[in-house]
Amino acid sequence: MPHFDPAKLAADVDAFCEDLRPLEELCYVEHRYNDDLPKLAKKHNLLGMMIDPEYGGRGADAVNYFRALVRIGREGTGPRTFFSGHLSIGAYPIQTWGSPALKQKYLPRASRGETILAFGLTEPDAGSNPREMTSTYEKTSAGYKLNGVKYLISNGGVADAIIVFAYPANVVEGPTRRISAFVVDTKSKGFEPENLTAKMGMPTSNTAMFEMTNVEIPAENLLGELGDGFRIAMGTLVSGRLSVAAGCLGVIEDCLAEVLNYGQAREQHGKAIGKHQLVQEHIAMIEIGRVTSDALLVKAAQAKQASTENPSDKALSVEADLLAAKTKFFITNAAWDAADRAVQVFGGRGWSTLYRPGRHLMDVRVCRIYEGTDEILKLKIASSLLGKEYEAFK
Ligand SMILES: Cc1cc2nc3c(=O)[nH]c(=O)nc-3n(C[C@H](O)[C@H](O)[C@H](O)COP(=O)(O)OP(=O)(O)OC[C@H]3O[C@@H](n4cnc5c(N)ncnc54)[C@H](O)[C@@H]3O)c2cc1C
Repeated sequence: MPHFDPAKLAADVDAFCEDLRPLEELCYVEHRYNDDLPKLAKKHNLLGMMIDPEYGGRGADAVNYFRALVRIGREGTGPRTFFSGHLSIGAYPIQTWGSPALKQKYLPRASRGETILAFGLTEPDAGSNPREMTSTYEKTSAGYKLNGVKYLISNGGVADAIIVFAYPANVVEGPTRRISAFVVDTKSKGFEPENLTAKMGMPTSNTAMFEMTNVEIPAENLLGELGDGFRIAMGTLVSGRLSVAAGCLGVIEDCLAEVLNYGQAREQHGKAIGKHQLVQEHIAMIEIGRVTSDALLVKAAQAKQASTENPSDKALSVEADLLAAKTKFFITNAAWDAADRAVQVFGGRGWSTLYRPGRHLMDVRVCRIYEGTDEILKLKIASSLLGKEYEAFK
């Protein structure tokens, strides 16, 4: 089995980002999905970064994987979201809960870029509370039949296979009414995607909804056991939240680079704007956000790695889960603040999406919404300190 080489991964990610930037700029201006991204990621062997080498991936540990997403995040929240959809919330649940046959069916192809993945939990009437979902599955002689609508799914219009969550049909209440998770091939009959393009940011990323009408899948495409779906979804969000946090640290790094350049290049009142103390305040605050976010991400990624290596240790898993929530909340808000400050430093040009600060501001806003809104994360953190009886919702 090839040995994981962190320096090689970092070098490949750098090369990928250099190739990506001009294409991403063009797609952003033209307001269209960057369909060169998967091809470039394939060229640089990044589509299986954290997948086990046994299944064709590079086997990056959490610290190195999230470090790669920091670098990709500098290029934009759109490209980083592609990787979150494909790997952090796409390949991760298959790798963690899939049967050997399911892993063999999807992970080597995902690593090679022949299968792009996505994660379909949210529905039009079930966002912060996924238990309110209405998608259903029925057992058939060959496997399962799914019906329902999933909404706001990253990569949902370009993925080849999607992790989908559903309740058993015909079970209205009781202990057997439990969510299950399935891998659904998007070429299946009855699967209808629709791209969502009226977005305030991330034009280069694919966001879609899809409808399943009697979509038939084989029995082997059940992920975990029947009834495991909610646990799988929540477990996957730990990986997903850290990937969002990592990308947002990249946004902060890029905003810092931009304000340092512009602060020295742009002159007003007879000197570089970086010599005005109120501009320096913006630069200092972005740097403070960067350095604190960096430390927090490393701590949370180490906790995630420790939990992955000791899957039966409940305390490690609780620690990783809570740190992911705190880290996601902190870094997404720090990135929003950094992008806002960078826009301010750029003045009128900052407001234009021809410059990087304005794009970051528009794109990064969603990071305080997806994979757990600010509010849901705060409630989770507070009740973990107060005790179970203080949980705001079940
Ligand atoms: C660009 C984009 C990409 C996405 N990608 C994916 C994806 O790949 N897969 C996927 O499954 N989903 C995805 N989502 C969906 C995302 O996870 C949801 O939008 C998010 O969970 C919030 O759900 P909602 O939009 O239904 O908002 P709602 O749940 O309706 O919340 C609306 C507001 O009410 C607040 N609120 C809700 N309940 C409470 C409460 N109990 N206490 C306090 N406040 C509350 C929320 O915090 C929020 O401010 C994506 C969304 C976007 C915008």
